[in-house]
Amino acid sequence: MDVAEGKIGVAPELVAQLRAAVEAAHDEQVAFLAEMVRFPSLRGQEAPLQDWLARQLATRGYAVDRFTLADVPLAAHPKASPMVGVDPAGSVQVAATRRAATAGGRSLILQGHIDVVPTGPHDMWTYPPFSATIRDGWMYGRGAYDMKAGVSCMIFALDALRAVGLEPAADICVQTVTEEESTGNGALATLLRGYRGDACLIPESTGQTITRAQSGALWFRLRVLGSPVHVMVAQAGSNAILSACDMIRALQEHTAALNAKASQDPWFGGVQDPIKFNPGVIRGGDWASSTPAWCEVDCRIGLLPGTEVADAKAGVEQAIREAARKDPFLANNPPSVEWIGFEADGAVLEPGSEAEAILGRIHEHLLSEPMPARLSTAVNDTRFYSLYYGISSLCYGPDGEGPHAFDERVRLDSLPETTLAIALFVAEWCGVVPLREKQAA
Ligand SMILES: [Zn+2]
Repeated sequence: MDVAEGKIGVAPELVAQLRAAVEAAHDEQVAFLAEMVRFPSLRGQEAPLQDWLARQLATRGYAVDRFTLADVPLAAHPKASPMVGVDPAGSVQVAATRRAATAGGRSLILQGHIDVVPTGPHDMWTYPPFSATIRDGWMYGRGAYDMKAGVSCMIFALDALRAVGLEPAADICVQTVTEEESTGNGALATLLRGYRGDACLIPESTGQTITRAQSGALWFRLRVLGSPVHVMVAQAGSNAILSACDMIRALQEHTAALNAKASQDPWFGGVQDPIKFNPGVIRGGDWASSTPAWCEVDCRIGLLPGTEVADAKAGVEQAIREAARKDPFLANNPPSVEWIGFEADGAVLEPGSEAEAILGRIHEHLLSEPMPARLSTAVNDTRFYSLYYGISSLCYGPDGEGPHAFDERVRLDSLPETTLAIALFVAEWCGVVPLREKQAA
């Protein structure tokens, strides 16, 4: 037993047993992940994968609750985000519970999202994005890294405990959710459904770092009007597409002003331009020889922890209003802003929690280096558990490259490391007891 082993709260023999169990199941875990990646679980199309996961978890003896966003009072919650163009009744959530034989102990939520973002043109990928192709120790695919790999880790971590004849001494809830990439309403729905824990771990695609702070995000649709005329007298009309470009430039300037102030931020002060603005979708116009009468741009902008969502929204609206005033047509026909998704607060994992200390010791034990902390300029779901429900929440997961990019890929070597880290975290946080023959349903 080396010194580092003594620091974690799991006996060295059990560490060795769990390591062996994780390694023995590695091929099965990779196959499980590949199966997940082959489901094109784009927004609104997550149900088949959720059904598959519900069956997988039921087979493992969990009490599985499959419900949709229409089954919980989302609209009444102040932190629910608007969903535009998606049916809440089709957005399936899975919560799989395993209750401890006796009450007490520290319960745990393990949560992962299974929605993925669009692929872009398939011919720009080296391998088809839902093929789960494996090359040189990497699995390629949309969602392979963000974050189906993490979902496989949390499920196989609990499998490893069972393989060595143990189970958590406290209640465990495994959740697979949707909407992480657009609103966060899936995570919120699990809380509205009544699920709670003494801690929550989300094995997001963090490259085996702990997320110290995350920016929030807003989604909005900018609608710009124009005045259609024959292009031969274009000067007499107003071109909505060109006007939208002016509004985008105004929003870039607004973002630059916010980033100038961000240098004073206690968490993000050292990060260059932590507030990211992105015009992500554009559509408009009807005819190449007519000045376009309309243009819509779907945008995303970040906000730092401590900034109120309402203030960030007001800032966007004001930037648009001021820019429109400079244009003779838009001054009388101002663009509109519709809030169509994320209304996410930024969040900070304050150092010093017991849960983080345990995970940090485990990381250091397994990887022989202190657990690195990262500052994220994008959201993750921990904010719902920590900010609104007071549940100590950690975001730590496997390693990979290219989330949201072509050739997104996960480093398969990081799966056993992360899976074992989660198994050890469960063992130390919840405690372990001998496996019951018949698991409670
Ligand atoms: Zn993710």
